[in-house]
Amino acid sequence: MVLADLGRRITSALSDLSKAPVLDGAAIDALLKQVCAALLAADVNVRLVSRLRDAVRKDVADALNTNDKGQAERMTEVQRHNVVQKAIFDQLVALVDPGIEAWVPKKGRANVIMFVGLQGSGKTTSCTKLALYYQKRGFKVGLVCADTFRAGAFDQLKQNASKAGIPFYGSYTESDPVSIAASGVESFKSGKFDVIIVDTSGRHRAETELFREMVEIAEATKPDQTIMVVDASIGQAAEAQAKAFKEAADFGGIFVTKLDGHAKGGGAISAVAATKTPILFLGLGEHVTDLETFRPQPFISKMLG
Ligand code: GDP
Repeated sequence: MVLADLGRRITSALSDLSKAPVLDGAAIDALLKQVCAALLAADVNVRLVSRLRDAVRKDVADALNTNDKGQAERMTEVQRHNVVQKAIFDQLVALVDPGIEAWVPKKGRANVIMFVGLQGSGKTTSCTKLALYYQKRGFKVGLVCADTFRAGAFDQLKQNASKAGIPFYGSYTESDPVSIAASGVESFKSGKFDVIIVDTSGRHRAETELFREMVEIAEATKPDQTIMVVDASIGQAAEAQAKAFKEAADFGGIFVTKLDGHAKGGGAISAVAATKTPILFLGLGEHVTDLETFRPQPFISKMLG
């Protein structure tokens, strides 16, 4: 299970709280100390952790010290515990929910989706996963390989796409990624495809050249949605990386990969807050079907077991 360690630690902190004889300030402080330590250990940014702690304190204070003192005093110990549990749950949800409606493709028109992210983050794999996901839902999907930087990128996409039965477009001879992206999208548009996914180059670092190329591909293909692929295993570095990409490519969704491994995942979560962009999908393995759609509340519920 994704972020299983974090979930276990928070659940155990809540269970300790339920054993406390009285739910007073000291008991809440002890709980928050455990929860914050768990979040920090999972690589969630320290600023976000302290914001969560303050927000939980405020939610609890608002609920337990209501203007109607009588009502607060009439609460049973169980009800008071529920107030604290709900505050923790709500603030964990807020951590992964920027409150922005996720974009979805519409049938009957060409929806262009451009993938961005550093090399090795899992872009090509995730493009194919998403292509298959939409194909299974009745969309006519095509994949375009606009990565001319990495040798073998086209072969990889071609192999993945063929295995999954998804039409693909690319070139062994054309070296201009903008030109390939534009002609690939054009070709699928004229074939009346509903979803056209463009895989771009990731190079090695978030460098000027890469960002210029992303902007030019976006100008040439006019994507309806740009998705950034964030590798969960890079920890805290995910936040700075996502911020740099956001400035250059203004992506509207995040695809977090490699959450099946030992990744702590908190860095990717912090990227949501830093860029105010929703997570759309999770990559949970190397196989083309190892994809999960992301929704904040069910995700936190599942994490807490
Ligand atoms: P790209 O350079 O960004 O296009 O990355 P690739 O798609 O080539 O992926 C890099 C490596 O990460 C490959 O070995 C993939 O199989 C692997 N990978 C991608 N997504 C996942 C995932 O969700 N879980 C795991 N465990 N591996 C993944």
